[in-house]
Amino acid sequence: MSFFSRKIRVRFAPSPTGFLHIGGLRTALYNYLFARKNKGDFILRIEDTDQTRSVPGGIEAIIEVLNKVGLKYDEEPYIQSKRLDIYKKYALELVKKGKAYYCFCSTERLEEVRQKQIGEGKLTMYDKKCRDLTEKQRNKETKKRTPYVIRLKVPEKGVTAVDDIIRGEVQFENKLIDDQVLLKSDGYPTYHLANVVDDYLMKITHVIRAEEWLPSTPKHILLYKAFGWKPPKFAHLPLLLNSDKSKLSKRQGDVAVEDYLKKGYLPEALLNFVALMGYNPSAEQEVYSLEELVRGFDLEKINKTGAVFNIEKLDWLNGVYIRKKSLDELVDLCLPYFKESGALIPTISPPIPREVGEQGELEGVDKNWLKKIVALEQERLKRLDEIIYLTEFFFKDKLNYDPQILIWKKMNREDVKNTLNKLLLFLEKIPEGDFIREKLERLIKDFIRDNKFAAGDMLWPMRAALSGRQASPGPFEIAEILGKEKVLQRIRDAINKLG
Ligand code: GLU
Repeated sequence: MSFFSRKIRVRFAPSPTGFLHIGGLRTALYNYLFARKNKGDFILRIEDTDQTRSVPGGIEAIIEVLNKVGLKYDEEPYIQSKRLDIYKKYALELVKKGKAYYCFCSTERLEEVRQKQIGEGKLTMYDKKCRDLTEKQRNKETKKRTPYVIRLKVPEKGVTAVDDIIRGEVQFENKLIDDQVLLKSDGYPTYHLANVVDDYLMKITHVIRAEEWLPSTPKHILLYKAFGWKPPKFAHLPLLLNSDKSKLSKRQGDVAVEDYLKKGYLPEALLNFVALMGYNPSAEQEVYSLEELVRGFDLEKINKTGAVFNIEKLDWLNGVYIRKKSLDELVDLCLPYFKESGALIPTISPPIPREVGEQGELEGVDKNWLKKIVALEQERLKRLDEIIYLTEFFFKDKLNYDPQILIWKKMNREDVKNTLNKLLLFLEKIPEGDFIREKLERLIKDFIRDNKFAAGDMLWPMRAALSGRQASPGPFEIAEILGKEKVLQRIRDAINKLG
């Protein structure tokens, strides 16, 4: 098959460090978009040969997030720690070809060399002591069973050029490149060896990864050359930055995709958001479905400069996606938050007639009742977890608030108390079945007019009494959801609070 007819194959190659970094999600997404756009393959490869970077459960965590956000990979994931023999075989092959060598230097010696170089203000790199050992010297060490590593014989002259799709040509001087370790003394490959061998064996055509790997790329190209393989094409994605332009904080809470999902950012919003960090198919549009992103994806259009992580934009996008949900879907999405918060305890019975039917009941709470509550907040919700704070007053028996919030403008405590007392007497006479938003609104507004009240003088204290909040949805909506009994109770409580 000629190169041009080669099937596009890309990979996402995370190390299982315990959580998926938001930048990792962007790398995965860009690889996915590129594969889908070109009808190619997107594979997942777990790079877990560096024991110090791998944590138990790390692989599952990555797979779970990719599943949750819907980035489907082709083929079973490849796990590098299960492929150790392969890397060893290729390292030995390079030694045989004279492109790599055994190095018997002890860690103590290497540290001494390093310190000396630091002292002399030099670049710290291996001093190549074992690079030209004779066969005799080598045999002597192997006989003694001296532990060894295998290092690449990096050319001492010339430059290695990386032709990057995003950044153009970047040149690296070979004399500044270390004779890097390929195989460690415990038989494990280094990142560089395993990464290159796998990209070759897995027929990867394009390596799309974060910019932090750019300095490793000349080493990789030298490795391809040593093996006599054609390197894939490279595209290094711009750094993710905080708003102050520093590199996006590594603190897990700020960057773990899992945490964003837990807080109630929707997968669609997260993908849309990370897609736009470094790339925007059109200046006019900000909201893109995954299919639209696939259609408009172009590696060449990715920015070179760092992309600022703007949480306000993520909040805004998430709100857009929340409003796109049907109310039923949104209730289902909010349910885990209600459950976790303990809001849905069976002791709270819906005070309106239950409409148990096809919707069924949820731990003692009618879904139709919950729907009315969620509907009130769909417009302003930015994150699913906010639903708890915004609606918790519906679920409580007693509200805790400062009675001061009941007082509207120029009224004093006594005025508010009198108004609420009048309202109470009026509401007591309204049949329970009329506690429907539109009906109540009409009745109460007529009552206000007939008694020549100012609307705010009655409606503000009523609303505050029902919600216990400075800001909340309107009094009639809340009253319908609470039902007659609770409404009367809350107005009585407010009157008592006013003393
Ligand atoms: N294992 C590297 C990482 O953790 C992958 C770099 C690459 O894609 O080559 O990000």
